[in-house]
Amino acid sequence: MPKQYLSLRNIQFLLYEVHQATSICQYAYYGEHNKEIFDMVLGSAKQLADKYLHPYLTEMDRKPPYYENGQIYVHQQIKQLMKLYGDGGWISATSSYEEGGQQLPIILSNLSGFIFGAANYSASVFPFLSTGASNLIRNFGSQELKDTFIPKMYAGEWQGTMALTEPQAGSSLSDVQTTASPTESGHYLIKGQKIFISAGDHDAVENVVHLLLARIKGAPAGVKGISLFVVPKKRVVKEGVAPNDVITAGMYHKMGYKGAPIAHLIFGEHEDCHGYLVGEPHKGLNYMFQMMNEARLAVGMSAVSIASAAYYASLEYAKERPQGRTFHAKNPLEPQVAIIEHPDIRRMLLFQKAIVEGSLSLLMQCSLYADLEKVNTGETKERYALLLDLLTPVAKSYPSEMAIQTTSVAIQCLGGYGYLEDFTPEQFFRDTRIHPIHEGTTGIQGLDLLGRKVIMHEGRAMSIFLEEIRLTLLSVPSLSTLRVRKHELAEASQHLQAITMHLVDFIKEGNVEKALADATLYLEYFGIIAIAWQWLKQGLVAEKALESSNLSEEDYNFYQGKMLGAQYFFEYEIPKIRGLHERLESSYTLTPTMKSAYLV
Ligand SMILES: Cc1cc2nc3c(=O)[nH]c(=O)nc-3n(C[C@H](O)[C@H](O)[C@H](O)COP(=O)(O)OP(=O)(O)OC[C@H]3O[C@@H](n4cnc5c(N)ncnc54)[C@H](O)[C@@H]3O)c2cc1C
Repeated sequence: MPKQYLSLRNIQFLLYEVHQATSICQYAYYGEHNKEIFDMVLGSAKQLADKYLHPYLTEMDRKPPYYENGQIYVHQQIKQLMKLYGDGGWISATSSYEEGGQQLPIILSNLSGFIFGAANYSASVFPFLSTGASNLIRNFGSQELKDTFIPKMYAGEWQGTMALTEPQAGSSLSDVQTTASPTESGHYLIKGQKIFISAGDHDAVENVVHLLLARIKGAPAGVKGISLFVVPKKRVVKEGVAPNDVITAGMYHKMGYKGAPIAHLIFGEHEDCHGYLVGEPHKGLNYMFQMMNEARLAVGMSAVSIASAAYYASLEYAKERPQGRTFHAKNPLEPQVAIIEHPDIRRMLLFQKAIVEGSLSLLMQCSLYADLEKVNTGETKERYALLLDLLTPVAKSYPSEMAIQTTSVAIQCLGGYGYLEDFTPEQFFRDTRIHPIHEGTTGIQGLDLLGRKVIMHEGRAMSIFLEEIRLTLLSVPSLSTLRVRKHELAEASQHLQAITMHLVDFIKEGNVEKALADATLYLEYFGIIAIAWQWLKQGLVAEKALESSNLSEEDYNFYQGKMLGAQYFFEYEIPKIRGLHERLESSYTLTPTMKSAYLV
């Protein structure tokens, strides 16, 4: 098992030097935190990950959960972990002190998710689901619901889930068919089925609390008729808990991320499944979107966390594996060199580093926007809310899509051994494949970005985003070695603005199909520019740090590595937008008008 799966030095660089995240401690809400506490939180997360998650990475893959007699059984380590997550306050961390939390900044909570995910992705999802589900109850539920469910979920004794998907309602949640019939006692009777529910049932907890979307009988069709319910596997009664007519009909077998189960659940088979309405009727999807937005950042984080583990596994291997000789060494009697000496291996390692560290930086940027939105009011709050809204589909999709490529490249660095189960990259490749699918596919994120986010409030979010980039460009010193990158990013962001207007014009003309047909490619284009922006930020900090004459060798190498990452991204990734630009600008439409019958 590779020793390193992430770089704490990199996390600290991004947190303190690039994003200067301790600045949020000036707000009263985060007033009790400081750098020492930030470091302590990161250190505790790493300790937990080293001791209780990472050692089980392979074992959880090889001994996946199983289904027997209506119950899913998970690896026994999950039980201990749920207790540790609960006792350590990881599930409730971002809640206020009054609500039993630690008022932990979102950026730190997301970073602890990154640390857990890099150590063992499957084992990291259980608490995260409980946090999301309890947040929904906390924000929109009645006091009774809060008192009944949240303490047990925070303690890790009960599992929270997000129960949206049905066979006919995956991407299209407006087609949810599960029903909720009101009763005189105040609860609703739930009837229907949900599929693919992560941690939807398992034996490491006493109860599972589903935050479930259903349609109240007689509700309008479409998204406006969907309500949110708390539906526990076991309902709370005077004596304790009793079965609630929730049946685990089965468990799906996945290609990766095998340690966490996804369940097929049937609600109300015997007409006795109690559900409790959260908030107002018909507002369920709005409420759920709050959880989904948090979850989308978490998915991006998870993708980067797995990509990080794969990067360090392949880096370690490349330093140790002797094979071949350099271009200049022709004598076969000379010893072989470590493969890290070959330019192609270096390119593959740099590719991983550039994607991992660029994506992590963007996700931290978004997390910080979430914190700033939380603590501000008025126009400032709105500014951060808009930035977060705009960037969420990008921060979810870019890392998710790219992690498939980087984990594949990690396999490639190991040659034939990369394809074997004896080494971790093949598991990382399988584990990360889920990320462009769950929490809204990449296709759906593209539609969200171009069809909704860039045009909302007459394009205000987009203008603010471009303004943020301009602020970074303005901070580039005139003698900086990065000035050429400044011009490249300036040009790229102008092109992004132009192509956005070009596509939005089609929407305004009513030619929505033409505008959105290649929305996924627009999302990719946008993603590359957003990451280039993050690399310029990192490069500027590194360049400044390198001016110091008394850097340790370790720090010197670290900052030079950052300069290299920035150079790589601008030299190898930014050129990709030219092809995308040409495609998006083209007046030639193919997919909206083609006949499906021709695909033979
Ligand atoms: C491991 C795993 C864990 C999951 N966990 C959960 C969970 O905890 N809770 C939960 O509720 N769900 C969960 N899901 C379900 C997941 O969110 C859905 O699988 C996902 O949203 C896609 O829905 P679908 O599978 O029905 O695919 P579909 O919606 O049928 O999509 C198939 C393809 O069609 C594309 N497509 C669909 N509609 C459009 C459109 N309008 N325009 C363009 N392209 C479109 C999609 O992008 C995709 O490429 C999980 C799934 C998996 C595999």
